[in-house]
Amino acid sequence: MKIYSFSRGGIKYEDQSVPPRDSYTTAFLPALSVIPLIQHSGGKAYPVVTSGERVTEGMLIGRGQGSGSANVHATVPGRILRSVSWKSACGAANEALVIHLEGAFEKLGKREEIFPWTSLSAYEIQRVISQYGIVEMEGSGVPVSDLISARRGKDAHLSIVVRCVFDDPWLAADYVLVHERIERVAEGSVITARAAMADRIIFVVSQGEEELAALFTEKAGPFGIQVNVMVVGNRYPQHNQRELEYALRQFEKKEGLELGSLLTLGPATLAAVFDAVKLKKPILERYVAIGGSAVKKPQVLRVRIGTRIGELFDQCGGFAGKPACIATGSPLSGKPVAALDEPVIKTSYAVFALLEKHKGIPEAGCIGCGECRAVCPVGLDPEILYKAAKLGIPMTEAMACHSCGCCDLVCPSRIALSSSIRNMMEPEQ
Ligand code: SF4
Ligand code: SF4
Repeated sequence: MKIYSFSRGGIKYEDQSVPPRDSYTTAFLPALSVIPLIQHSGGKAYPVVTSGERVTEGMLIGRGQGSGSANVHATVPGRILRSVSWKSACGAANEALVIHLEGAFEKLGKREEIFPWTSLSAYEIQRVISQYGIVEMEGSGVPVSDLISARRGKDAHLSIVVRCVFDDPWLAADYVLVHERIERVAEGSVITARAAMADRIIFVVSQGEEELAALFTEKAGPFGIQVNVMVVGNRYPQHNQRELEYALRQFEKKEGLELGSLLTLGPATLAAVFDAVKLKKPILERYVAIGGSAVKKPQVLRVRIGTRIGELFDQCGGFAGKPACIATGSPLSGKPVAALDEPVIKTSYAVFALLEKHKGIPEAGCIGCGECRAVCPVGLDPEILYKAAKLGIPMTEAMACHSCGCCDLVCPSRIALSSSIRNMMEPEQ
């Protein structure tokens, strides 16, 4: 089978401190859950419960308001203790409802009730996806309902792209999920295709995972929608939208297809669509990869949304040394965490803690080796952009940077190139 890829740059990304991806552990239920009212790309959900009120597992506690905002649900049964607010390390304000775990679970450990969906219209399915607060869980947090509205009927053809690309070892949680829940991912893709009125699903899988593709085709096939499989190389950042689209357009040309617009979603999101539409269940938990050089026993945990990050490190045996940096996401593009009380949210696919020696030394000088230029998939010169950022000179080329972090990883002086370029685009407030 032909292997597709992007045209230039990229790196082979390996990291010894990621958790193994062949197993996972279910995390303990937290006695206190911190459920943020912003777990999505837009504005705060409006709280519909108050302190002292009892809530059930899966109950609506925050109503999304406007575009980019999504409904928020209680992930455990209990009592609302209070609301708390804080600022993230990058200065963004958030607010959360704290739930004290009490009473019986409605869904955990119970037999799942199946709701038929095939007779629902595209608009009815979209309403259910919106009602259960489903967002793009692999990073952006954009509500899936907004993504569907933006694409449905806009082009003669629309393809749902199922991104199962594991070029970044920090996508270990997605890897575990897709192997555990391939049936849900497959049917979730078909449900999404119906809601968006798409005519095709493209299952994109990393080289070496062809068996997964065969399984996906077998599960999605009976629904009567066109399914294609595209295999991509393992060079990072293949999973980025721009690099993925480049490969998809090559595939389109080679296979003589008309893909039209593309709606790309990851496996966690599609499994959540399945849960919402077929089980009437909001996002209650997610798989999270916990690791980094400061963590004693890196592992993938299945975690309730709202569990505090400090508790996850405890479950991984605690710290092997004083962490110099704690962040969510992949070390190449992560967001720093201000306090260990910050909770896991719908978009937290990985959390890492690094020792000082692995954090990077931004002050070492540039030796002009050109490594950063060679790996930039966009064809930028990160060295020049970094130096301009240091001098406060804005450069419009910086807008093309998609913060993949390839340049950071290869720089022998360990200069924080991508964050300097990012700051040039979005000056800190
Ligand atoms: S300059 Fe931007 S796009 Fe280019 S390698 Fe660095 S982070 Fe990636
Ligand atoms: S990789 Fe680092 S040291 Fe080499 S040119 Fe780029 S910024 Fe300078």
